[in-house]
Amino acid sequence: RAKSEGRGQYRVFVPSMRDDLLRRQRLMNDLRGAIRRNELFLLFQPIVCTVSGNTSGFEALLRWHHPELDLVPPSEFIDLAEKSGQIEAIGAWVIEQACRAAAQWPEDLFISVNVSARQLTDMSLIAVVTDSIAAHAVNPRRLVIEITESTLIDNDTSALSVLHALKRLGCRIALDDFGTGYASLSYLRRFPFDKLKIDQSFLRQIGDKNSDSAKIVRAIGDLGRQMDLLVVAEGVETQEQLDLVREAGSVLGQGYLFDRPLTLDAARHRVARERGLRQTAVFHSA
Ligand code: C2E
Ligand code: MG
Ligand code: MG
Ligand code: MG
Repeated sequence: RAKSEGRGQYRVFVPSMRDDLLRRQRLMNDLRGAIRRNELFLLFQPIVCTVSGNTSGFEALLRWHHPELDLVPPSEFIDLAEKSGQIEAIGAWVIEQACRAAAQWPEDLFISVNVSARQLTDMSLIAVVTDSIAAHAVNPRRLVIEITESTLIDNDTSALSVLHALKRLGCRIALDDFGTGYASLSYLRRFPFDKLKIDQSFLRQIGDKNSDSAKIVRAIGDLGRQMDLLVVAEGVETQEQLDLVREAGSVLGQGYLFDRPLTLDAARHRVARERGLRQTAVFHSA
């Protein structure tokens, strides 16, 4: 009997594993020409001041429109791009496109881009950033590089020198998904961060009475104040979450309560609408 149960499991389990592997192999292959075929694009999600509600900047989020499989999420293809050595080219494309977009927005708005561990292993990222900000005449201070904790653990000596070189260019650095990795707090002293992004998992559990998430969000707010880091709350979906993160000292927020990731046009409209209203208000009071 044990043997037939084993075989039953075998039949159910293996095909799905194989499908999964086949899909991954296919995506890895198809990704190779994705930039050339214009299948990649960026969406821009507003990052908003939790006090005034004004847009402070945008995070560039990568999307892949596969001709047959439709929209493939970054959670599915970024690690494939890392494993197959394609992340350098894709990452360079993202930074160039993000600077191109930022050049179309008011000067006071920042643009955040996500950078993977592999992009921090050598200095070629510095050339990419230098070229992109020069090509689009973007002030380097507007460019925020987002990295995650695991990036630092995997290769901290080279990552540290790349991050310092980015800081010398004038860029800013954000620690993304803060609280989910295994980095110790000493990383906050060793690396030149400007911002901490509280991972969305903490916000998701805030309504849950048995969870300590609200305390953790407050503790991260205190940490940010003590260490002079700007705290950004990710995944703000409800008014309750916004009230908590604002009170806890998160100056910036990002999430569906404010807006979803937007196309470049929609992002520009959002800013124009916001600024237009503000200008009108000034005009009337003058
Ligand atoms: P991330 O950098 O932490 O980005 C935030 C993710 O949360 C985005 O998912 C965004 O769409 C989503 N999000 C924003 N607000 C809310 C909300 O209120 N509720 C919920 N449930 N989700 C929200 P997305 O776009 O699927 O990206 C997933 C991850 O993929 C990113 O996480 C980032 O780690 C990675 N990624 C995206 N674009 C790039 C890229 O250009 N390069 C690299 N290396 N990684 C990227
Ligand atoms: Mg991010
Ligand atoms: Mg994040
Ligand atoms: Mg994330």
